[in-house]
Amino acid sequence: MTNLYANAAAKSVETGRAETQWWHVLDDGRVQCDVCPRQCRMHDGQRGLCFVRGAEAGRILLYSYGRSSGFCVDPIEKKPLNHFLPGSATLSFGTAGCNLACKFCQNWDMSKSREMDTLSAAASPLAIAEAARANGCRSVAFTYNDPTVFMEYAIDTAEACHERGLLTVAVTAGYQCAGPREEFFRHIDAANVDLKGFTEDFYRRICGAELGAVLETLEYIRRETKTWLELTTLLIPGHNDSEAEIDQMTRWVVEHLGPDVPMHFSAFHPDWKMRDVPATPPATLALAREIAKRNGVHHAYTGNVHDTAGGSTYCAGCGARVIERDWFQIGAWGLDDSGHCRACGTRCAGVFDGPPGTQGARRSPVAFS
Ligand code: SF4
Repeated sequence: MTNLYANAAAKSVETGRAETQWWHVLDDGRVQCDVCPRQCRMHDGQRGLCFVRGAEAGRILLYSYGRSSGFCVDPIEKKPLNHFLPGSATLSFGTAGCNLACKFCQNWDMSKSREMDTLSAAASPLAIAEAARANGCRSVAFTYNDPTVFMEYAIDTAEACHERGLLTVAVTAGYQCAGPREEFFRHIDAANVDLKGFTEDFYRRICGAELGAVLETLEYIRRETKTWLELTTLLIPGHNDSEAEIDQMTRWVVEHLGPDVPMHFSAFHPDWKMRDVPATPPATLALAREIAKRNGVHHAYTGNVHDTAGGSTYCAGCGARVIERDWFQIGAWGLDDSGHCRACGTRCAGVFDGPPGTQGARRSPVAFS
């Protein structure tokens, strides 16, 4: 039974504490968090694996409400989202903690942080939305660490954004339980979900999670929400980059999500607990992209590399290059203002609204006082 202990008044940017909704009390007196399939069971004073949710006085609190590890105006392509308001700026932020335990984490300083004090910037949902508008952003992105673990802060920020005409973006591993997933994605306009591999063994051994739960989230987003969806797979040499695995993954995507969900195959660089694994060769990324295209994925990309051919968008109707892209930088543009190919009229899948933005590859930190 989930205890609906929603209390908007019990959230404080000053203390970083917020009441939460998705938990229940067990027969032995512990409290179980129901936000993600990890289902942490805690005695008072204990924290969950993500470390930002913990048990106190018989309920679960979030300890990172209003606390950020920093804000930055990013190109939307950095999320990566190639079919969602291309060229626009998005105000990006994250907090601390993560509900996965990926050995290859590329943001481990934030995701594995247990020092709430290192969360320098305190910012209310309203202040974030106002800052996004003041900095010319069209969206706010919950990124750097997984918004699943700070969903109350993300949802309040999303509401403040929508009231001001801004859209919202989530970068997530999609490892969530059904109820919180539904509540969360109701507030999200676009998501890039990490599909980290395509075997349960990889998910269990390397990420401490379950592939099946992530696939459920992907199907849920595609079938039950209006959220624009793109997928990213970091290809790690020797671990998730075999032709057979990419073949299986891309076939599943086309069959279950459809050919219009863009897939990004990104280059790994040695980090966190996988410093002994070499960086991904560009040829591996190119091969993954070819396999995806062969299996019917309309928009497959290479990522984290300079590769104009692999980073550009091509019309699914006539094959013309409609968005030239080098990493985050947009070049020639071949769509009309509502996203139709100028050569053949086929609509490009995604969210297009006017000409491309002019953010380019620029990234600029934003300070909150
Ligand atoms: S969100 Fe955090 S506390 Fe809750 S189940 Fe997942 S890892 Fe555990």
